[in-house]
Amino acid sequence: MNKTLYPDKPKCHCGVFGIYGSINASLHTYYGLHALQHRGQEACGIVTKSLNGKSHSVFNIHKGEGLVSEVFGDSKILQSELPGSSAIGHNRYSTTGSSQSRKNIQPFVVNYRLGNLAVAHNGNITNAKELREELINEGAIFQTTSDTEVILHLIARSRLNNQVEQIKEALTKLEGAYCLTILTDGKLIAARDQYGFRPLSIAKLNNAFVVASETCAFDIIQAKFIREVNPGEIVIIDDEAFETGKIKSERINGIVLPEKHCVFEYIYFSRPDSFIFGHNVDKMRRRLGKVLAKKYPVIDKDGHKVIVISVPDSSNTAALGYQNQLDKMGIKSKLEIGLIRSHYIGRTFIQPGQEKREIGVRIKFNIVRGVLEGRTIVLVDDSIVRGTTSKQLVNLIKEANPKEIHLRISSPPIMHPCYYGMDFPSREELVANRCNGSIEQIKDYLEVDSLEYLNIDEMLEAVSEIGTDNFCTACFSGIYPTKVDSSFKKEIYEL
Ligand code: SF4
Repeated sequence: MNKTLYPDKPKCHCGVFGIYGSINASLHTYYGLHALQHRGQEACGIVTKSLNGKSHSVFNIHKGEGLVSEVFGDSKILQSELPGSSAIGHNRYSTTGSSQSRKNIQPFVVNYRLGNLAVAHNGNITNAKELREELINEGAIFQTTSDTEVILHLIARSRLNNQVEQIKEALTKLEGAYCLTILTDGKLIAARDQYGFRPLSIAKLNNAFVVASETCAFDIIQAKFIREVNPGEIVIIDDEAFETGKIKSERINGIVLPEKHCVFEYIYFSRPDSFIFGHNVDKMRRRLGKVLAKKYPVIDKDGHKVIVISVPDSSNTAALGYQNQLDKMGIKSKLEIGLIRSHYIGRTFIQPGQEKREIGVRIKFNIVRGVLEGRTIVLVDDSIVRGTTSKQLVNLIKEANPKEIHLRISSPPIMHPCYYGMDFPSREELVANRCNGSIEQIKDYLEVDSLEYLNIDEMLEAVSEIGTDNFCTACFSGIYPTKVDSSFKKEIYEL
């Protein structure tokens, strides 16, 4: 699913992949990135390590702007340009304008005192600005505007004499969200920040080890899932061993740091066929729909069946859960396909600017009149960002003359920015903010018969084990799990 085609959804910054010990390392990475395409569509890249002679290693790189199928469209690239038995890959999404900078396309590669190093990063380093300023004052020269380059400089400037120790030392200085795959001359290294904001898992493919943002990247190459990389864990893979360690103490002032997984991964981002944060995404998304139905059911005023439809594809699973629960509650209902999504739009219409977004919605969706006409419709969506797409969809549905339209959202209103690797528009553009958090005002703006969102407790009831508090909800609550520099602006790093 090409998520840039959803003009009114937040964007995830990246997806990462790594493999060690496969004769088809670049091909497997290509397939892995293909499965992770939803995590970033602006650019992608693969770095492999091969041997020149018996022991001299060479890092090979190919990257470019566009989808994986476009950047690696010529299969000869994998064979001739990317030989080797280990590789890392990266899919990138970037904010408008930043995609113009080819230099920011990952993986980044450097050659320094202790050899070669390539890094691919998913997340956002919240203290990157301070670290960058410190490094510049010490004489570092930056090639890109990406926070990921800060990690490379920290490693390369370390005075330690062991590469793994250098990497560990660099990671202790980072704050915020990161899932990393790092390739060195002899190792594949994976690391995840202490809060575990973004998902990262490990699998085996025959004798090779594989690391990826989501398990759907394992399925495509038939790798066998082993486990998730734990929050705060570093995993080091080479010919001899699979080692694991802690990046830094889990305690601050004696208090154990809680895990803070991004709840939006369950709501919208991750693919429903992935397993992340200990659960299947599909199951969590159904549960969100189920709680939504329990709290906010819709009944047809004339005793007919209500028609439950999703905004395809991202809300399909939540709509299933919603209708299933209505059924269990004895409310007459039917799950229908009321909106048809075109799969053949291409990338040309994805342009900034209100007018083009609105045209985009009509190009992208059409209504099934026979399903909607004269019926009470429940439109289930996973989130509302600007509200422009929702308004357009409601207007489209109205063209079929339904009896009523009720909108149900399987997450709370988005009120705040994300500093951990998800890109929302500015506060001023968020419809919930424009309406001062008033659901009534949003309902009036969207011109629906009723509108309900899950509140934060209801959302957590759906996705959490009872008594746990291991999710970040900052974009809904404004409560950030880490210190955030108030002057932080992602544009500084994403020019
Ligand atoms: S702020 Fe929202 S999108 Fe960002 S990590 Fe937290 S829950 Fe996820």
